Amino acid sequence: MTNSNRLIEVPCPICGSRDSKAVFQTQDYKQQITDDIFEVKRCRECTVGYLSPRPTKEELPRYYDEHFYWSHENDDEAKGKAEEVLKIRETQLKEKAAWLNDIPPGKLLDIGTMKGEFIYYMNSLGWNVQGIEFSDTPPNLFDMPIEYGDFLQMNIEPESYDVITMWAVLEHVYEPREYVRKIAELLKPGGKFIFLVTNFNSIQGRVFEWDDYPRHLTLFTKAAVRRLASETGLKVTKKSTDQRIFGGHMRGGLVYLVKRLFGYSREEVLKEWKTDGAWDAFLLQWRNKPSFIIKQLARIDKALLLPVEFVLDRLGFGFVLTVEVIKPVSK
Ligand SMILES: [Zn+2]
Repeated sequence: MTNSNRLIEVPCPICGSRDSKAVFQTQDYKQQITDDIFEVKRCRECTVGYLSPRPTKEELPRYYDEHFYWSHENDDEAKGKAEEVLKIRETQLKEKAAWLNDIPPGKLLDIGTMKGEFIYYMNSLGWNVQGIEFSDTPPNLFDMPIEYGDFLQMNIEPESYDVITMWAVLEHVYEPREYVRKIAELLKPGGKFIFLVTNFNSIQGRVFEWDDYPRHLTLFTKAAVRRLASETGLKVTKKSTDQRIFGGHMRGGLVYLVKRLFGYSREEVLKEWKTDGAWDAFLLQWRNKPSFIIKQLARIDKALLLPVEFVLDRLGFGFVLTVEVIKPVSK
C-alpha cells in the first residue's frame, strides 16, 4: 500500500455547486491499493453524493489493476477463456439484454465495455455493435470492435446510435455531466441511453459504505439522474432498483452491526467485509478465528435481511439503480 498526496477537492460533478455536507470518510477497503483517506460529500443543491477529496484524473488509472476487470471470474482457470466468461456472466448478460428487448436491433454503443462480453452477446442477437474501453488492461476476448481511450476525446458521428449503454461505469468517470451531454449528441432522435449506477439513497450506500472507493466518484440518486437527464435534453422513461444485474450487499448487515457493537472499529469491520475474497472470514470468524456465534449470526442475517432487501429494492431504495432515458424525437 502506498500513500498519495495528490488528492484534490472538487465541486459537485452534477450541478457544479460547492454547497455540500460531509457524509463520511472512507478508504480503499476493497482493493487496498492506497492508504489515503477520502471523503464522501452530499450536494445540498442536487442531492448527489461525490468523492472529494479524490485522486486527480491523471492518477486514476493506478487504482484499476488487472483484478478489477475480472471481478466475476474468481477462478483463475476461467481467466482468458471466452466461453467460461460467457457461462459465468450468462444471467447478467440476459438481464442486461432484457432492457433492450422492446427495441428492434440497430446500432449499439457500449461505453466501458471491458472484455467485450456484452457487445458480443448483443451482436449474436442481431445488433450492430461498438465498444469503448478506457483501459487496455482487459483483453478483447471476443475480437469485438473496441476503441481504447478517453470517450470524451473521441471523434464520433453525431446522431449515429439507436442505443448507448453504460453498465456500472458512469459512477467511475470524472466528468459524468460531459459524458451524458456527449451521449445525448450521439443518440439518434428517439434513441435510448440505458445505464446502471449505484443508488446513494440506500442503506448499502449510506450506512454500509458499499460503494467502491476511490473508484466510485459520483454517488447517484434518482433526483440527480432526473436533473442530469433534463439538463442534457433527455427524458427518464424507466428506472428500477432491483438486483437482477448486480447484487446489492444488504446481506452481512447484521454481522456488521454486531461486530461494531462488540468491539470492532468501523475501519476494521469494513475492511473485513469488503476485501475481495474475504467474505467467508467476515461471515464465519471473529478477528480471524472461527466463531460459532458469528456463524449462527450469519444464518439469522441471511434469513432476516434478504426479505428486507427485497422490499427495499421494490420501494426504490435498492443499492443498484438501472435507468432508461430517451432522446425525444422533436424538441
Ligand atoms: Zn449538485
